[in-house]
Amino acid sequence: MINVIFLGPPGSGKGTQAAMLATELKIPTISTGEVLRKEVELGSEIGKLAKSYMTSGGLVPDEIVVGIIKNRIVQDDCQNGFILDGFPRNMNQAVVLDLMLESLNKEIGVVFNFEVGEDVLIKRIAGRFSCKKCGAVYNNYFKQPKKEGVCDNCGSDQFESRADDNESTVKNRLKVYHDSTSELIGYYEKKNLLCSIDAIKSVPLVFGGLIDAVSKISSKTK
Ligand code: ADP
Ligand code: AMP
Repeated sequence: MINVIFLGPPGSGKGTQAAMLATELKIPTISTGEVLRKEVELGSEIGKLAKSYMTSGGLVPDEIVVGIIKNRIVQDDCQNGFILDGFPRNMNQAVVLDLMLESLNKEIGVVFNFEVGEDVLIKRIAGRFSCKKCGAVYNNYFKQPKKEGVCDNCGSDQFESRADDNESTVKNRLKVYHDSTSELIGYYEKKNLLCSIDAIKSVPLVFGGLIDAVSKISSKTK
């Protein structure tokens, strides 16, 4: 049983690794970005509120994302652990999360900090696309489907790119990361929860690092 946070700039590989770690540990990933994109697609109240922030690459107001997390982590499938991908993203969200977890008698076991240089991030984001049906993430430069035009995971031939993966939004998303999110590195370092990940490595190598770290933590807490 472990609750994990994935911290890192956009494009650092959090979603890719979260999907793999979730399968390995049989725990769910909670990606606030994913939830928000679904709400926008549905045209829900949350989606309508969030859309302009996401389009500009800014942060959606804390009340909205905190509400998403609050509802999600009490659900049955989260009771054996969960991976938070893209939350918290600023100091207020981190403090609120701590209070929320304390009230539920839960705690974070590790915060993986994905480290990648900006030039690589931009290339990863520019090349990112995903399966429209199952959401599997690919890359024009780094990770094409094994059979061209066919999803490895579900066989679909429908793919899409994210609306916010364009040049101007990406610049703002990276700025927001530096201005608001990167200070969480120090916050979790002080709590002795931070584990740095050299996310420039290949997908399997990064994954191996995550698995090693999780097994060390799990054996310590047994
Ligand atoms: P994040 O969730 O942090 O925004 P993603 O997991 O969506 O990042 O990855 C961004 C892009 O980079 C995707 O197109 C993905 O296929 C690709 N990618 C992820 N990890 C790696 C890696 N280790 N090496 C090369 N490309 C990667
Ligand atoms: P992501 O999928 O993590 O790259 O997030 C996509 C977009 O969703 C971000 O650029 C934000 O606009 C919004 N978002 C996701 N998570 C959060 C969060 N924790 N706080 C505020 N906005 C968020």
